[in-house]
Amino acid sequence: MTDGGRRPLVVGNWKMHLGEAAAGDLLDRLRADGLGAARAEVGVAPTFPLLRMAVDRLGGSGIRVGVQNHHFEDQGAFTGEVSPRTVAEIGASFAILGHSERRHGLGESDDVVARKVAAARRHGLTPVVCVGETETERLEGRTRDVVGRQILAVAPAAGPGTVLAYEPVWAIGTGRTATLAQIAEMHAAIRRFLSETLGTDAAKATRILYGGSVNAGNAEPILRLDDVDGALVGGASLDPAAFGTIVRGA
Ligand code: PEP
Repeated sequence: MTDGGRRPLVVGNWKMHLGEAAAGDLLDRLRADGLGAARAEVGVAPTFPLLRMAVDRLGGSGIRVGVQNHHFEDQGAFTGEVSPRTVAEIGASFAILGHSERRHGLGESDDVVARKVAAARRHGLTPVVCVGETETERLEGRTRDVVGRQILAVAPAAGPGTVLAYEPVWAIGTGRTATLAQIAEMHAAIRRFLSETLGTDAAKATRILYGGSVNAGNAEPILRLDDVDGALVGGASLDPAAFGTIVRGA
């Protein structure tokens, strides 16, 4: 992995998995395994009801706790939504935003993602912004256009420290990891795009994670690629042994 001063980052996205007891066990295990002392920075994103417990149990461990989403307003008549201010108050330090399961499953637009990025930054949360093409978009040769559009949409709101996660939609939760060549090509293209649109300093400083069926068996060569600065891990982050192997490989 090219360093360029970018500390690798591995984020576990727990999605809507794990009840309180199972989450507690996993948090204790991650802490006991000393993952917070790894060379890579590590974060986990549980569901909202488990946020307080995660913050309490991982306090002082070096493992960051984040959320998988939040609203773009701080408060108001938004039934069922969660405020970025509240999660920051509880102790979240990052927010996964624009995940494909929200863009495609829940109709979240580029504009909404951009407003959420601005909201995260208002409250000191590091935005981890997911971008990526669907299988149809790839087959139609539109991958770079789609990813470029998604990045441009958030660029005015994103600032230093914002993390990008390249996640081809067809590789998420499917067991179909992108090939090393596909990952290398897209990460290099994103870095070039950042350089052209935001300048070389911003391009060099931005961490670009890969996500899409990363597991203990395939992580190492992915994480060694130039321009891959870590991983966003779904399913494998629920298994402490697998997650530990990925983190140590970064
Ligand atoms: C994700 O949730 O962002 C993800 C990449 O999931 P998985 O690792 O299960 O494909």
